[in-house]
Parts: sequence; C-alpha cells; structure tokens
Amino acid sequence: MTPMSYVSTRGAAPELGFADTLLAGLARDGGLYVPERWPSITVGAFERFATASYADVATEVMWPFVEGAIEHDVFAQLVADSYATFATPDVVPLVELGDNMWLAELFHGPTLAFKDIALQLVGRLFDHELTRRGERVTIVGATSGDTGSAAIEALRDRASAEVFILHPSGRVSDVQRRQMTTVTASNVHNIAVEGTFDDCQDIVKALFADDTFRDRRNLSAVNSINWARVMAQTVYYVTSAARLGGGAGRPVAFSVPTGNFGNVFAGYGAQRMGTPISQFIVASNRNDILTRFLTTGTMTIGDVEPTLSPSMDIQVSSNLERLLFEVYGRDGSEIAELMARFRADGSVSVDAGRLDLLAEHWSAGRVDDAETAATIAALHERTGMLIDPHTAVGLAAAVNERADVDVPMVVLGTAHPAKFPDAVEAASGIRPPLPAHLADLFERPEHFEVVPNDYPMVRSLIENTLDATR
Ligand SMILES: *Cc1c(COP(=O)(O)O)cnc(C)c1O
Repeated sequence: MTPMSYVSTRGAAPELGFADTLLAGLARDGGLYVPERWPSITVGAFERFATASYADVATEVMWPFVEGAIEHDVFAQLVADSYATFATPDVVPLVELGDNMWLAELFHGPTLAFKDIALQLVGRLFDHELTRRGERVTIVGATSGDTGSAAIEALRDRASAEVFILHPSGRVSDVQRRQMTTVTASNVHNIAVEGTFDDCQDIVKALFADDTFRDRRNLSAVNSINWARVMAQTVYYVTSAARLGGGAGRPVAFSVPTGNFGNVFAGYGAQRMGTPISQFIVASNRNDILTRFLTTGTMTIGDVEPTLSPSMDIQVSSNLERLLFEVYGRDGSEIAELMARFRADGSVSVDAGRLDLLAEHWSAGRVDDAETAATIAALHERTGMLIDPHTAVGLAAAVNERADVDVPMVVLGTAHPAKFPDAVEAASGIRPPLPAHLADLFERPEHFEVVPNDYPMVRSLIENTLDATR
C-alpha cells in the first residue's frame, strides 16, 4: 500500500504523512488532520479478531495508518508495550449488564480513564519519532481532568518532551488533580488556570496560532485533536463488535459518554472501516451542545455548567469538525467558513440535508445529574457493580435512546468509579477504593502553579520555565 497521507479539515494546510501528522497536532490552517481515505477491514479479519489478543488486533487495525512511517516489528512492539501497562490481560473487557447490554471497560490503564488507551501508545510513538529525528518538543495540553494525567503518565521522564498541562482550577476532582500534580518528573509542569476547560483550550489554541512561539519552542499537542489518539481509539470498537458479533458481521450499537467528540468520532472511523455499527448514541450531561446540534442542526454555545461528569463539561467539541468534514463531502473550504461563522457568532446551522446523512445511525441523549446519580444507584442495586458518573451518563442515554433491543448495546465505560469517589458514594452509599498502585495518592506532595485566565501570563510562564530548563 502507498503510505497514508493526512489532509486538514479546512483544506488549506499541507498534506502530511503519519509521522508529521503525529507531531503537528492541529493543522496550520486551524483544522484537524484526517486520513485521506478509510482503509477497510475484511470479513475474514473480523472472524480472527473475535478471539485474537487486543494488541494483535490493535496492530493490524492501525497498520494502514502508520505504514511507511515506522517498521512493522517496531510498531507491534510499541503497541504490545502500551497495552502491557493495563491491569487486565483483556485490556478492554466486556461485562454483561443484562438486557443485551454490555459495558466495555476502558479504564484499566495507569490513570483509570479511557484516555490511557490512546495516550500510552501516542507517548511511545512520539518518543520513538523524536528520538529518531534527534528532536525535542514542548507539549502543551488543556485537560478537563483525565487527558492531563494520561498525557503526563505517557510522557513523564522522556528526554524528548517538556510537558505543560493546563487544567481549570477547582473544576477537576481531587483524584484527577492529584494524579497530575503528584508526578515528580522534571519534564512535567502543571498549570491551574482560573477559568473553565474551554478557557484552557482557547489558551492552547492561541499558543498554536502564534507561529513564532510555535516554531521557536517546537510546540506539539497530545489533545484529542491529535489524529493518532483517534486512530488508537478505533480499536476497541472493532474488538467489541468482533466479540459480540462473533465475527459474523452482526451489528452492534454503542453509547458514548461524549465531551470533545474524539471517542465517538473514532467509532465513526471504525464504522467507515467496515465495523458493523448500527447506532451511535452521543451521550451528554447538562452541557448538551451536541444533543441540541444533532437534534436541531443548530450549534449554539452556552455557558459551561459544572456537573457530576466534569470530563464532559465542554461546550465546544473540537472533534465534531472531523465529522462535519465528512458530512460536507470533505470540502475543506466549506468547513473553514462554517467554523469561522461559529467563532464569530457563537452559533451556526448546518443544512437539514447534511444532517440527514447522520439520521440513520446517530442519536443523542442528554442526562442531568439527578438521572446520573439514579443510574449509578440502580445498577448497583441490581448487580452490585459500581460505575463512574461519565459511564452512568452513557448507560442512561443507552436505555433512553436505544433503537433496537435485539442489537447488542455496548456502553463505553470511560472512567473507573474510584476516579470520582464522591459522586459514586453520594449515589450508592459505597466509596470505591483506589487500586493498589494509587493507594497512597492522598499522601503524595502536589506541584502546580495557579494562573489567571490570561493568555500572555500563561505564555510567559511557559517561556520562563522553558528558559530555566534548557
Ligand atoms: C475525556 C472523557 C470523556 C469524553 O471523551 P471525548 O473523547 O472528549 O468525547 C468522557 N468520559 C471520561 C471519563 C473522559 O475522561
């Protein structure tokens, strides 16, 4: 196969190969990179995937995206090493919930959220490529809670990267904050911004838009805008569907607790590659811009409201742009115009005809905090299982929006219940204990700086830190 190339959703940035796309993060025209074509998984491959190991499926599914940029054996080893860090040999176990519903447990990685699945691999790919080039980068990322710790865990102590993670001060859980701020690696820097996650994300975008800063500091990102993260997340849609469909091509539905839209867009990618997926449920909390968009065709920014599921407290879902690019027939100039209008007006509408393309497979469900808590309590009462509030949003939306009870419904379990112990305890009466490797988390000292929501101040903090460390 000729190596895959990657195009920007706004059509005005150069096409890149995999390695450059990996390191670039956001495209220079402000768009997001997507593969120029979707490879296909054969029916024979699905049959094998029903019983193959997670790492073997992952290597095979991702190979067409990386071929030409890395040797096959090296890639297979990086994949195997990434998933060896997980607490279960299955990597993503499927647990039956009853009523033909299944929980795909994506939270057995080092930081207890599904972000590890992508970032353990992306960290290794970064280090491999940068070491090969003899380069160092500055990684800057915004986190609503879980990306930060997963990125830090994936990049700590790597000589190839200096890591700055911005989180919204006071808006992440104590466990989430401590998973970031107790890491003592000298290349890791935590910044608490006095604002929302969207404010943090805007600062990161502004840093990337600042060409001088970007080039001088060799800026790079591991946010969910990074294509390699989406790529790694396609795999568990494939493994789940192959196992539940017995490799026979029977359709499966997914309910996806959604924030930045990276996870569910990976599901779309898996579907385009041939995974038989009959329904996507985009599950949101009270910050329901996506639900309103998918049901009305109009996307209007509101204020971000704190909820029990903080990793989904987002109003602007960056990765939606990747889906819009597909819905608009891959016309980058239309997307550039659409996004400019959205930026300027805080609102944009998509023609009805475009959304019809999604009507067949896409649903959306909004779940408030009361229903989230009731869902945690009801599942615990019925099965003895505890789920975290994000997963509970997915489960409630699955129950409410399910199109066909004969199709297996997979709820993506995006975080371990112990990551959100207060919400889980309030709902169920049980406080889930942290796994052994994090048992002393609350005794470890924290390191972070609190900074006002002010772009120049954040930029100079990063500049000064870099000057002091290099
Ligand atoms: C990041 C995250 C989400 C949202 O995922 P997106 O890919 O941003 O849509 C949901 N749940 C948890 C626990 C997360 O960490």
